[in-house]
Amino acid sequence: MSSALPTVGAVAKPSTDSSRFLISDLCAELESYLEPQQIHEVYRAYLFGAEAHEGQTRQTGEPYIYHPLAVARTMGEMRMDHKAIVAAILHDVMEDTQTSKERILNEFGAEVAELVDGVSKLTHLQFRSKAEAQAENFRKMMLAITQDIRVILIKLADRLHNMRTLGVMRPDKRRRIAGETLEIYAPIAQRLGMNRVRRELERLGFAAKYPFRYAVLEEALQRARGHRREPMQKIEAAITQRMESAEIEARIFGREKGIYSIYRKMQEKRLPFREVMDVFALRIVVGDIDSCYRALGVVHNLYKPVPGRFKDYIAIPKSNGYQSLHTVLFGPHGSPIEVQIRSHEMDRVAQSGIAAHWQYKAGDDSAITAQTRAREWLKDVLEIQNNVGSSIEFLENVKVDLFPDEVYTFTPMGEIMVLPRGSTPVDFAYAVHSDIGNRCVAAKIDRQLAPLSVRLQSGQTVEIVTAKGARPNPAWLSFVVTGKARSGIRHCLKTLQADEAMVLGRRLMEKALSTLGQSLGQISPARLDEVLDAMKLPDIDALLVEIGLGNRMATLVARQLVGQEPADDEEECDSTGAVLAVKGTEGLVVNYGRCCHPIPGDPIIGLLSAGRGLVVHRENCRNVGEQRERADRTVALEWSNEPGAEFAVSVRAQTANRRGALAEMASVIADHGSNIEHISFNERDGHTTAMTFTLTVRGRRHLAQIIRSLRRLNDVLRVQRSKG
Ligand code: MN
Repeated sequence: MSSALPTVGAVAKPSTDSSRFLISDLCAELESYLEPQQIHEVYRAYLFGAEAHEGQTRQTGEPYIYHPLAVARTMGEMRMDHKAIVAAILHDVMEDTQTSKERILNEFGAEVAELVDGVSKLTHLQFRSKAEAQAENFRKMMLAITQDIRVILIKLADRLHNMRTLGVMRPDKRRRIAGETLEIYAPIAQRLGMNRVRRELERLGFAAKYPFRYAVLEEALQRARGHRREPMQKIEAAITQRMESAEIEARIFGREKGIYSIYRKMQEKRLPFREVMDVFALRIVVGDIDSCYRALGVVHNLYKPVPGRFKDYIAIPKSNGYQSLHTVLFGPHGSPIEVQIRSHEMDRVAQSGIAAHWQYKAGDDSAITAQTRAREWLKDVLEIQNNVGSSIEFLENVKVDLFPDEVYTFTPMGEIMVLPRGSTPVDFAYAVHSDIGNRCVAAKIDRQLAPLSVRLQSGQTVEIVTAKGARPNPAWLSFVVTGKARSGIRHCLKTLQADEAMVLGRRLMEKALSTLGQSLGQISPARLDEVLDAMKLPDIDALLVEIGLGNRMATLVARQLVGQEPADDEEECDSTGAVLAVKGTEGLVVNYGRCCHPIPGDPIIGLLSAGRGLVVHRENCRNVGEQRERADRTVALEWSNEPGAEFAVSVRAQTANRRGALAEMASVIADHGSNIEHISFNERDGHTTAMTFTLTVRGRRHLAQIIRSLRRLNDVLRVQRSKG
C-alpha cells in the first residue's frame, strides 16, 4: 500500500522546543490566515485552558498548557479553522481537569464543545490487543466513532507532540506508545493523505520502538548525506541555472526517503542500505501546470531521461488525488536522479491531504459540518478519478474508513468485534459464541445495563450476561441483523421445541392410552416397532415429538398401538378420560390464546394445531367454535395446582374524562402487584373514555380483586374483563 503512495516532503524539521513557543507566537502565526476576532477567541481559549490546567505539569516539568499550545500550533500549520484551534487548546481540559462539557459549551459554543468531547472519547478508547488485524479494526473504530474529522486531526496533532516529547517516559511505556503510533496513528495519517504528519510520526515511532536500529540507520544516513552533498549541490545548481534561463520560477528541494520507509524497504525487499540509498532525488515546485511541463523539458534537456520511467500523474493522477510529473535521469555521477515536478497547489495536497481542504475553503462556514468537508474532499478526489478511470482502491479504503457500514465494539477483554451496522447485543453475543447467544439474558454497554434490542455504536464495550438454562426468545428474530444470530436462534428454538414436544407428546399419549385402559409401558416392543415402521419413524421419541407438535393424533396412535381399528364415530370424546394439567410454564409447544387470554381458574380447552403443538383457549372462546366437536383435535385441560407463570388478561374500562383518572387506575393496578403491558383507547366522547388494558395476573381471584378495587374509584364508570 505504502509504495502506491507518494513519498514527499523534505526531511522533517528538527522538533522545536515547545516550551519556547508562546501564545503570542501562535497568534502571530494565525494572523496569516485568520480574522482578528477569531484570533481573539483563540487567545481567550488559551486563558481558559491555562487556568484550568493551573498547577499541572507535564513529565518534562514544564507547565501543562505548553502541550495544548503545541497541539494548536500544529493545527495552525495545517491552517485549520479557528474553532478547531480553540478545541486543540482545550483538548485535554475535560479529561485532565474538572471542566465540564457544559462549561465549554457556555464559553465557546456547541461546535467547540463537541470537538473537545470527541477528542476525550478517543482518549478513552484503549488499544489493548497486539494482533495485526486488531490494529486495522481499531483504526477503523477511531474513524467510525468520530462525528467530525477535525477530532482526528486534533488527535493526530496531540500524538505528534506526545511523540516529540516522549523521551521523558519510562522505556517500556515509550515502546508501547511508539508501537501504537506506528500501528494506529501513522496509518490513519496516511489514509487521510497527510504525508508530512505521517512521516514524522513514523520517524519518531521508529526511533522510540527500535532505538538501536534507528541509531545505526541514522548514522549510515548521515554518512551517505555527507558523500552526496557535493554532487547533489552541483545537480541542484545546474538545474537552477537552466530554470532561470528558461524564465521558470522554481523552488528545488533535495529529497530523502523517510528513515522508516528506508527501513521497511530494506526489510521487505531484503535490500542492503547502499542499494536503497543509491539514488538522488529532488523535487521541483513551480507556479502552475504549464510550468510543470516546461520544467520537465528543461531537465530532460539537461540530463538524459531513463527510458520508460517517465510518469504523468498530472494528466492521470494517483488514486489518492496525488498529482506530479515523475521522471528519472541519468545523473552525472552514474547514480540515477529521481525528479518530481509539481505546482504549489499539488504540493500542498500531497503533504496535507484532507487537511489541505480547510485552507482554501475557510470562511464563514458554521453551517458546513466537517463531515461534509470530508465528503467534499472525497468528492474532489473522486472527480479527479472519474476523469481518468484509474484505480479507486485508495478511495474505497478511505470511504469505508470515514463512512463505514460496520460498527466496531469491544469485548470486556478488549478484543474488537466487527459487526454490521444496526447490530444489537444479541448479534454481539452470537458473534462471540452460539452458546453465549443461546444463554444470554441481558447486556451491559459501557457497564450500564441496556436492552438486548438496542443498536450498538462503535467504541462501546459490550458485556453479555448469561444465565444457566436461559433460552433464546423468538421475539429476538424481529431485531437481530446477523445471519449468525438468526440461524443460531432458530436452531436453538427448534431443538428446544423438539424436547418440549416430546414431553407433551408423552403426556398426550399416556392420556389417550389410559382411556383405552392401557399405558405405554404395557405396549410390547414388537408391536411398537410395527407401528413405527408403518409410520416410517425411527423411534418412539420421534413419534412423541410428532404428537406433541400436533402433527399426529394421540388418540389414533393409541388405537393403533392397542390394535383397535380407528372408530368412525366421534362420540368417544376425550372428556371421558383423564385430564391434562397445564400451568403456563410449559414453554414453546403449549401456547395460550391471545384471543381470549385464559387465566388460572377459567374453564379451558386445548386445541392441537399442526406444527405448533397445543393452544389453550377459554371454553367459551369463539375461536374454539365448531372445532370443539372434533375429538381428535381437542384435549381436555385443567389448571395445575402448582404455582405457575403470570398470565396476560385484557380488561375493558370506561371512565369519566377527568385528568388523573388514568393515573389513579394505574396506581391501583400496581398496588395489586400487577403490570400493565399495554393500554389502547377505544373511543372517546366529550364525557367518557373507553379503554382496554392488558394486565398480568396470577389467576381469576387476583383479577377479581383488581377489578373490585378499580370499581371503587370515583371516575371509573364500568370495568369488566374482555370476552374472547
Ligand atoms: Mn493531549
